[in-house]
Amino acid sequence: MKEHVAPEQMHFLEEIVAADLAAGKYESILTRFPPEPNGYLHIGHSKSICLNFDLAAKFGGKTNLRYDDTNPSTEETEYVESILADIRWLGFEPANIFYASNYFDQLYEYAKQLIAAGKAYVDFSSPEAVASMKGTPTEAGKPSPYRDTTVEENLAQFERMKNGEYPDGHCTLRAKIDMAAPNMHLRDPYLYRIKHAHHHRTGDKWCIYPMYDWAHGQSDSIEQITHSICTLEFIPHRDLYNWCIEQLGIFPSKQYEFARLNLTYTVMSKRKLLQLVKENYVSGWDDPRMPTISGLRRRGFTADSIRDFARRIGVAKRENLIELSLLEFCVREDLNKKALRRFAVLNPIKVVLTNFPEGQTEWLETENNPEDPEGGKRPLAFTRHLWIEQDDFMENPPPKYFRLSPGGMVRLKSAFIIKCEDLVKNDAGEVVEIHCSYVPESRSGSDTSGLKVQGVIHWLAEGHTETAEVRMYDRLFQVEDPAAEEDFKLAINPNSLEIIHNALIEPALHTAQAGAHFQFTRLGYFCADPDSTDPKKVFNRTVTLKDSWAKGQKK
Ligand code: ATP
Ligand code: MG
Repeated sequence: MKEHVAPEQMHFLEEIVAADLAAGKYESILTRFPPEPNGYLHIGHSKSICLNFDLAAKFGGKTNLRYDDTNPSTEETEYVESILADIRWLGFEPANIFYASNYFDQLYEYAKQLIAAGKAYVDFSSPEAVASMKGTPTEAGKPSPYRDTTVEENLAQFERMKNGEYPDGHCTLRAKIDMAAPNMHLRDPYLYRIKHAHHHRTGDKWCIYPMYDWAHGQSDSIEQITHSICTLEFIPHRDLYNWCIEQLGIFPSKQYEFARLNLTYTVMSKRKLLQLVKENYVSGWDDPRMPTISGLRRRGFTADSIRDFARRIGVAKRENLIELSLLEFCVREDLNKKALRRFAVLNPIKVVLTNFPEGQTEWLETENNPEDPEGGKRPLAFTRHLWIEQDDFMENPPPKYFRLSPGGMVRLKSAFIIKCEDLVKNDAGEVVEIHCSYVPESRSGSDTSGLKVQGVIHWLAEGHTETAEVRMYDRLFQVEDPAAEEDFKLAINPNSLEIIHNALIEPALHTAQAGAHFQFTRLGYFCADPDSTDPKKVFNRTVTLKDSWAKGQKK
């Protein structure tokens, strides 16, 4: 398998795995994705998911899902379920689904092993006292007065901690490593704390909970994870990760770090996302403006486009900020191939074809998807009374205006050329009807008119439409790096959602199922929302057709 992987196409983690396999270090590789179930997964997590699953798959290995549920107060079943659903939607299936809480008994035994070896002690110092004795990176810390307690006493005290004899925060278990270590994480880090709290899986069995540094590496080792991949902020934890595993003499999982995904105009911390939800800035975790996987899905992003995005951004070792427009580019690329084309008129204005007989319907046809040879065609009714977009008409156009204007001509897509002859205005002087003539010989596909017109606009025939609610989404934040603001909520874009209540859509959209993708011709990509009812469909604008990313690259 590994011979088939061309070295020049590999990123640094693939190179590490290839070298490990070539050296015979492992028979097969096992990675894991370890989310804390305290929120919904976001686009940053999808980066980590794709990385872990793709890396293992590329070398014939597997990937576990492990819920990092060591913190008893935050986990909720809703999050646990949404996480698995999102991973599967992205197209990945975990080899095993585990919980760090499965290992609480084992972790407790490991801790006793460490105490017995004289490598951990129960500390009754207050958190303030511990902090004040930590020292600084250039100055050694001071030993805790409890550092030299005997093994027997420590074992007894640890058991009392576990038995619930002490209140929250009364004491902790600390590793006994080196109070002068240049890496502050090695200055006798906490391994266990007391927290009398109910846990979603272990109930009230435990009142001591392992710290991240004690739970994570040991869980990796128990599962025999070969390559434990995390984000850069865990680099200083790596020595401790290795120290714990070495002391216990257990399977030597190894930690590797990559740069987390940061996206412009986006906040990615779950704490901030939770705030947006709790304080009703958005309608929920799956609000189509949220960078959550469920929000992106509802907005109309496809799993293929998110995986493509993860591949394109690659795996970096240095922090960077990726353009949101790249993600939009990826979904456009994907939907251009997949989405059915449909006509919708969001803000209609009436056109009357004065030379087309009243009451007559001519049936035309148009392609469902010019990118898909199998896509077929659909019928379009053409009548004397039509609707076009208000935006496609200007009474006093600037030079080089190619849409409709007095005396001007435009082609109605897949139909005929029309010429604007007259306007009907209301008392306020606003145009309410555009009277046009149509050119019968200009029928698309069999045009013998010899006329050349620059503009092509979309349209619908009166009486052959349904109404829909169309939710026009825009980016949720109006600054590039909202997380850098003093209050990120002040950077929210007040126009991130505009609702069009009575858009007109073609009848072929009547059967659109929630989640179905469409290109509304000339307007953008849209996705049918689960809020749709039988009389009234709801569509979310996924993205406009305009591509700012590829253009920016060419400059
Ligand atoms: P948050 O800061 O949003 O709470 P987290 O890192 O605490 O994120 P976890 O649930 O612990 O969230 O993350 C699970 C996995 O996803 C971890 O391995 C973490 O490194 C990875 N991850 C989280 N955010 C990103 C990101 N923005 N880019 C890449 N990977 C990420
Ligand atoms: Mg975390």
